[in-house]
Amino acid sequence: PPGLHLVSTPIGAARDITLRALDVLAGADVLVAEDTRTLRHLMEIHGIALNGRPVIAYHDHSGAGQLQRLLGMMAEGRSLAYASDAGTPLISDPGFELARAAAAAGLPLTAAPGPCAAIAALTLSGLPSDRFFFAGFLPATASARRTALEELAPVQATLILYESPKRLAALLSDAARVLGESRRAAVCRELTKRFEEVLRGTLAELAAAVAERELKGEIVVLIDRAPPEAVSEEKIAAALDAALAHMSV
Ligand code: SAM
Repeated sequence: PPGLHLVSTPIGAARDITLRALDVLAGADVLVAEDTRTLRHLMEIHGIALNGRPVIAYHDHSGAGQLQRLLGMMAEGRSLAYASDAGTPLISDPGFELARAAAAAGLPLTAAPGPCAAIAALTLSGLPSDRFFFAGFLPATASARRTALEELAPVQATLILYESPKRLAALLSDAARVLGESRRAAVCRELTKRFEEVLRGTLAELAAAVAERELKGEIVVLIDRAPPEAVSEEKIAAALDAALAHMSV
């Protein structure tokens, strides 16, 4: 069918692709990918032939020209499948501008849902899964990261963060300082892959463990919500002020 089809791809184990995702990749007129080589390789693994179909590179900084070109193809009635490098497109990955533009143009938009590191990690973390707040990657610089943690401190939900292994130690020690050493947390590493590992403990324990042993690979950090009594009226008011300041831009 014409329109844009957002295809989730594996976060490690190639067989985690869904049967419907394979159908969409096999049936789309045009394949669009964050990285064309990665998508070609995935299709090859699963025996899906290109049969001369174009594979076009697209990410959210590809520019207005490329975006218009893809919208034009869809307006002509062609079907596009979009995949990012791993997991679900748009989730700390490109695709948002394209999906938003397709929706705004009234073009059909569907998802072939599948792997997402944040959701997989949440289910393994041992932390409450009833409410969660996905914060993606926090800023890389120390002061901006602390400010971001202060904003997250009163949130009444399990916090889910993506982090690179080289900044993990700094994130955990900052989180222990800003959110409190005794908050429960989990570090999920290399999910669905050979060296999959989940560490659970307090922020202080995890910061100490990571300071001792450098963790490599892909990492999700999850942090329990603040105990309700720790969320003072002033903190809530300050967080609201901060949020409103962002909104009034
Ligand atoms: N779109 C992806 C998703 O749906 O999860 C996320 C892409 S983002 C650029 C990459 C980050 O996701 C990594 O730095 C890591 O934080 C997390 N991630 C991806 N795959 C992972 C895995 N197998 N195990 C743990 N974390 C993973």
